[in-house]
Amino acid sequence: MARFIFITGGVVSSLGKGLASAALGALLQARGYTVRLRKLDPYLNVDPGTMSPFEHGEVFVTDDGAETDLDLGHYERFTGVAARSTDSISSGRVYSNVLEKERRGDYLGKTIQVIPHVTNEIKDFIKIGEDEVDFMLCEIGGTVGDIEGLPFFEAIRQFAQDKDRGQCIFMHLTLLPFIKASGELKTKPTQHSVKELRSIGLAPDILVCRSEGPIPQKEREKLALFCNVRAGSVIAAQDLKSIYEAPLAYHREGMDQAVLDAFGISPAPKPDLSRWEDVVDRTHNTDGTVNVAIVGKYTQLEDAYKSIAEALTHGGMANRVKVEIEWIDAEIFEREDHGPLLERFNAILVPGGFGERGTEGKIKAAQFAREKDIPYLGICLGMQMAVIEAARNMANLGDAGSEEFDHEAKDARRYTPVVYHLKEWVQGNHKVTRKSSDDKGGTMRLGAYDAVLTKGSRVAEIYGTTAIEERHRHRYEVDIRFREQLEEKGLIFSGMSPDGRLPEIVEVKDHPWFVGVQFHPELKSKPFAPHPLFADFVRAAKEQSRLV
Ligand code: GLN
Repeated sequence: MARFIFITGGVVSSLGKGLASAALGALLQARGYTVRLRKLDPYLNVDPGTMSPFEHGEVFVTDDGAETDLDLGHYERFTGVAARSTDSISSGRVYSNVLEKERRGDYLGKTIQVIPHVTNEIKDFIKIGEDEVDFMLCEIGGTVGDIEGLPFFEAIRQFAQDKDRGQCIFMHLTLLPFIKASGELKTKPTQHSVKELRSIGLAPDILVCRSEGPIPQKEREKLALFCNVRAGSVIAAQDLKSIYEAPLAYHREGMDQAVLDAFGISPAPKPDLSRWEDVVDRTHNTDGTVNVAIVGKYTQLEDAYKSIAEALTHGGMANRVKVEIEWIDAEIFEREDHGPLLERFNAILVPGGFGERGTEGKIKAAQFAREKDIPYLGICLGMQMAVIEAARNMANLGDAGSEEFDHEAKDARRYTPVVYHLKEWVQGNHKVTRKSSDDKGGTMRLGAYDAVLTKGSRVAEIYGTTAIEERHRHRYEVDIRFREQLEEKGLIFSGMSPDGRLPEIVEVKDHPWFVGVQFHPELKSKPFAPHPLFADFVRAAKEQSRLV
């Protein structure tokens, strides 16, 4: 039976609760325990699939096809445990489940209330798979005091009551602001935040305090006294140069020890932190820098491409180089010449995206990379744009385009759809069908699918195998009918769905490194196990940087 750690936040949002949870997960693993991490989000969207990346950052996709919060990406990157659809829930999902049950008559005529019906639904969710791991870490999104968060806080309070004593602990993450004028770290906002928690029946066992610098002993004692935690359970979480320093930094601060103490686990198993020591060593001891341009649409908010940025960092670790990323809005190329902007980069990446805006700029970026021998990685939409570019400029299909854009065009343009809307495909051993009019939520080709790579192709060499499984999130596909025409001109279809119908990977022959993938390899990369495509892409960028 798992022990439960509930992680809540106070004072302000964006303190890195997800990261702290993920790092704690990694530390417990380092002591030999098995873990699973979960996110409970108070917002009313049923899942983040329909939220704009500008609003909420990237949508993280699990193997079993759930569209989840980007914190699940942190969890996977730090623990290597593949997230499942049952690791993420929102108020929207909770209420939608409750209402569905009510309509079905499951509640036998009862009046449906937040307590117990909504809280029971949340508790049932927390319990899923509780026998599978030693520790279940549940992060509650938002900050204490948020209206939407209340049912979740109430549910975890009840949950700890339902369980045996000592089976659940609470960790609270707050901010200690530094007031320059008086040269002091202030504990009052944390005191208030804990007071707020206690007013709803929750008493934190561990306080994780974000601060710019170290926390002096005096402030630690004050926090312990006023917030009713042990002095050793006040953990300083200082700003770090790299997020991957977090496990070692929190370990030095005694976070994992404090957690084990709170559960009364003694003696605590010794940790093996060699994995994280190696990751930190590779982060800091590098041999040069490579510059990578990401030509995309959601470039104002880095979180919109969180996993890609992290996967590039992991690729840098594999090659002991620092990867410097520059975000370029693809729309710029519709006004300005792209050549001068792109020529100083060692590699170009065009990420996934939705809608027509900026796509002509992405096509120009793909063309530039192909013609100038610059390493190119196109992900999902980035692959589709590379195929359109090749169709137009290599295979003489000047009007090549994607069906994704025709409904947005005011005049019904004539074009050759080399990328089309897929309405029927095979997942495992069953058929999936969609209509154009389907809801926007969750109707894409989502989650893990197998692909077969051509023996002797660049990608088969990179992966070291011809059978792979990668995660998808898209509605449109490259049309196989253009394969021969494109391959003749040098765009090779080197990865296909097992039934041979759906192109999964394209690569340009006789190019230093040009690969387009229909899936999202970035979702599976880890600092201690960089994704082979990202590792090799950065290797090619490093080679390119030596040439210029
Ligand atoms: N918009 C494209 C599609 O739906 C690509 C999606 C993506 O890049 N994730 O097929």
